[in-house]
Amino acid sequence: MQDSMFIDSHLHFDTFEESGEVADIVYRAEDNGVSQMLAVGGSLLANQTAVELAKKYPHKVFASVGYDRDEAESNPDFDRLNILVTDPGVVAIGETGLDYHYTPDTAQVQLNLFQAMLDIAYAHRLPVIVHSREADQDTLNLLNNQTARWNGKEDEIGVLHCFTGSLDFANALLGMGFMISFSGLLTFKNADSIRAVAQTIPDDRILIETDAPYLAPVPYRGTRNEPAHVVEVAKVLAFIRNCSSERIAAITTDNARRLFHL
Ligand SMILES: [Zn+2]
Repeated sequence: MQDSMFIDSHLHFDTFEESGEVADIVYRAEDNGVSQMLAVGGSLLANQTAVELAKKYPHKVFASVGYDRDEAESNPDFDRLNILVTDPGVVAIGETGLDYHYTPDTAQVQLNLFQAMLDIAYAHRLPVIVHSREADQDTLNLLNNQTARWNGKEDEIGVLHCFTGSLDFANALLGMGFMISFSGLLTFKNADSIRAVAQTIPDDRILIETDAPYLAPVPYRGTRNEPAHVVEVAKVLAFIRNCSSERIAAITTDNARRLFHL
């Protein structure tokens, strides 16, 4: 049992739910000091799973609901989303955003869906969890509009999750009030450019996540990821920022609580 308290600000519980492992995963997380986690939606089923788990594990699991880029062409159910979003366990909208790496052909419908998710976040004054891959300029354009109309607290507008972008992209996001979240990618040998950016993010704008079951950090790389492993992301952040893991735990926990009102 660790003394520090970590929050995994982004994971997907769907596969753990399917395999009946949620209780074990939550237990192992807590045993490693990861006492709160954000169950992220993105599809109808993932949204429902997230909300159900937030009910089942109050104050441990929180929910984010929305539709991600993979749903852009499938006419997602907005009525259902508008009901789910009012559930008390829901603390954010997402994940949502743009991916021109895997699905460049659907760019226009992705943009429309992303804007619709930003509208819901704005209407409910909830932070948005944003995915951006090879779409940084379009992402900035839409988020810029969100910042311009945002009437919540300045630094509660949202987070760019699993950051892999440039220093310029990070600075533009910070300037618009967004937080930046780092995943297990930060621990990969070839991730010098991500580490260089992570070194520069102000203490009050940085989050950690696993994005489990994907992207297991070193030394678990290549295996299925789980929230307990967010501690490895914190260790690497501590090393590159020349501080203790305890300090990373403290600042990232504080930031997650402020952003998501945990
Ligand atoms: Zn994700």
